[in-house]
Amino acid sequence: MRNKKLVPIMSAVTGVLLLTVIVLLFTIGPWKKSSDDSSLRNAKIGIETKNSTDSENQNDTDNSGESFEATEATAASKDTKDPDPSETTDATTPATSESETSEQTTSAEPTATPTPTPEPTKTPTPEPTKAPEKTPEASKPSSDPGGSYDLSGMVIVLDPGHQRKANSDQESVAPWSSETKPKVSSGTSGVSTKRPEYEVVLEIALKVRDKLESMGATVIMTRTTNDVNISNIERAKIATDNNADVFIRLHCDSSDNSSSRGIGVFVCSKSELPDQKKWGDWLGNCLSSSTGSKFRGTVSNTTYSGLNWATSVPSFLLEMGFMSNSEDDRLLSDPDYQEKICNGIAAFCNKMKNR
Ligand SMILES: [Zn+2]
Repeated sequence: MRNKKLVPIMSAVTGVLLLTVIVLLFTIGPWKKSSDDSSLRNAKIGIETKNSTDSENQNDTDNSGESFEATEATAASKDTKDPDPSETTDATTPATSESETSEQTTSAEPTATPTPTPEPTKTPTPEPTKAPEKTPEASKPSSDPGGSYDLSGMVIVLDPGHQRKANSDQESVAPWSSETKPKVSSGTSGVSTKRPEYEVVLEIALKVRDKLESMGATVIMTRTTNDVNISNIERAKIATDNNADVFIRLHCDSSDNSSSRGIGVFVCSKSELPDQKKWGDWLGNCLSSSTGSKFRGTVSNTTYSGLNWATSVPSFLLEMGFMSNSEDDRLLSDPDYQEKICNGIAAFCNKMKNR
């Protein structure tokens, strides 16, 4: 009885199975061809979510393209972000050889895909990054005398230190002091060039003036020739009377130690401006980066009458180098080096304008 009944049932079941196989072959065939990547990635997702890969695959064939694309995107993003963890997961998961192969393939593909992505990212990034950083600070100012800063609206007072003939008449060192000192000294001279300081600093100051004016600044000189008689207080008053945004006194240093080199900045310790010393560091660092010369630091004191009488404006005594050192001395008269000094001062003025 049972056998007789089973025969038609079995044949029916076999027929159904055959139909299913045929249907599956038709559906799976084109699907495999059209999106191998998708199937592989999907397999990976099945592994990642720790679900049975078989049931996932079957569901996927039935599912619409929407969910497929979504999973694909997830897989892609996961691959890009952390390809290593997924590989580790695979290794620990007792996955079939199939999924391992597919995992390797997928990991190889996304690796191939992100690889070109980082490459274009890396290639353009260093170029713009390196270019703007180096260009404005180092290359541009020296190669672009026209100036890359807009200093319009700034009033800059430049005081080339000393003069041909010293004036030993006395004047007050500071408004708060009864102490006096000579109105103006003659300065030092170059150990190699034999040039007097007053001559070198005027030469540089005139170039600084031209540079700053070309950038739109209003530049006021305390002197434009060596044959003047202007005391340090008078020079300071030129700065305060014009309410200078920046007052720079240009000098060259001298030391008994002929190996002493570098840039120094002096500011008044009794300045009315709390940032005075910080700005001194700015000036020294700007000059150091434009010239390559060492910045020795900012000294805050009440030694210089030309600073003590100008405490209401940003005032600086800049020692551009040591004329007692043969190399510094040579550089201070070198037009290329003088141009670098100009650029450093321009960069500093720009920093002061935008502070
Ligand atoms: Zn001097």
